[in-house]
Amino acid sequence: MNVDAFSQEIKKLCLQIQGLLQCNGIKASSQQDIITEAFEELHTAMEELLTASEELKLTRAAVEKERQRYQDLFEFAPDGYLVTNAAGIILEANYTAATLLGVHQKHLVGKPLIRIQQELKLPFELDGQEVFTTASIGIALSSTVDYKHPEELLRDADTAMYRAKFLGRARYELFNSDMYANTLAKLQLESDLRRAIERLEFRVYYQPIVSLTKDSILGFEALLYWQHPERGLLNPADFIPLAEETGLIYSIGNWALHEACRQVQAWRMCHHSNFIEKISVNLSLKQFSQPDLIEQIRQILRSTGLDASTLVLEITESVIVENGDKATAVLLQLQEMGIELSIDDFGTGYSSLGRLYNFPISVLKIDRSFISLIASNSKNLEIIEIIITLAHKLGMDVLAEGVETKEQLALLRKLNCEYAQGNFFSIPLNSSVAEALIMTNPRW
Ligand code: C2E
Ligand code: MG
Ligand code: MG
Repeated sequence: MNVDAFSQEIKKLCLQIQGLLQCNGIKASSQQDIITEAFEELHTAMEELLTASEELKLTRAAVEKERQRYQDLFEFAPDGYLVTNAAGIILEANYTAATLLGVHQKHLVGKPLIRIQQELKLPFELDGQEVFTTASIGIALSSTVDYKHPEELLRDADTAMYRAKFLGRARYELFNSDMYANTLAKLQLESDLRRAIERLEFRVYYQPIVSLTKDSILGFEALLYWQHPERGLLNPADFIPLAEETGLIYSIGNWALHEACRQVQAWRMCHHSNFIEKISVNLSLKQFSQPDLIEQIRQILRSTGLDASTLVLEITESVIVENGDKATAVLLQLQEMGIELSIDDFGTGYSSLGRLYNFPISVLKIDRSFISLIASNSKNLEIIEIIITLAHKLGMDVLAEGVETKEQLALLRKLNCEYAQGNFFSIPLNSSVAEALIMTNPRW
């Protein structure tokens, strides 16, 4: 398609948009002006893009692809990127409003980008609703890397844009080679992670949960580790975020739940039926949102033979905050099955104890960031005291996470905290060491 034909098409689209606005009773307003202006700028940008693409010897097909992307403007997607050469001439402009408002700015450093973001931050009206949007912008400069193909420039701008999103969105990031290294490392980790289940590389470790009323082990929290063939034993923090991002957490989390239930049942068959009372397994927000979660858990309990009353599922406050009514239904179903529920890392999210009262939660796990400070500061001690008292009033038991010293333990006992967990008692252990520990019947 040549420039003229393309211009015609853009003009047609402009008229359609204006028609739509009028149909919806939106008067000639600044909103309409912005859209008209934006399309005019799009037109200019496309002319520049076509000229630039000639210079770059881009194929007609690549230009056509770009044109297709511009049509996404109708969706008002909030993110975009803009690529310029050293002189600030636009070489490529990906879809979206961000690009459009920035098109007249040729120099992509400092002030212009801040302006683009400020403009986009302003609310606008769509169908009578006030809509807010932000822009995450990635910039790649052809002057900093010796690019051979335009696609490489786009790839790097894209990487920088994802970095901007990762760092909190509504910001811009300039591409640098570290980002490339990070992206490669992440891709490598993802491909390793995909194969880790088949290669049986995951391990469940067990950290004791101690009953402070009986002074003995109540059960274990199952924690997932990865025996990576080259990197050694990896902590959950090294791979669970990526597993969540890629959706691999569904199969990995399912495996962990199955393995923990299987292990406890195996211990019971080998020793006695009360070998441990409880096994706690973490369930992330993403796992919780699976439509067939209940069926999967039922299936695991059926196949391992573990009774539901042994299982505790640890969820975070975010599950409740972000799922609302849907969460209530799922939690009630789990409760009806006989499974106990606990709130993990309490104090780090945005829920209040009052809100949790509406959910069938039996144990509140206070995050270790609070516990680590109790002995040093009387204010922290008071906060813990209030949480414990309120949790008790609401019918919940309290578990203190990350107990590391006997002073902390003594204070928690004084505050009538029911359970504790932490390196003071034991670090997470592999299954055979955990089994041996139970056999010694330790007391604290
Ligand atoms: P979490 O559920 O809050 O687990 C407790 C974390 O605190 C564990 O970290 C444990 O090793 C650590 N910890 C326990 N006691 C102490 C202590 O006294 N001092 C210190 N400094 N740390 C202590 P870990 O094993 O690195 O696990 C991190 C997180 O990964 C877990 O936090 C949980 O959110 C997640 N996770 C672990 N396994 C699974 C899993 O199977 N599925 C899902 N979805 N998430 C998991
Ligand atoms: Mg946990
Ligand atoms: Mg925790």
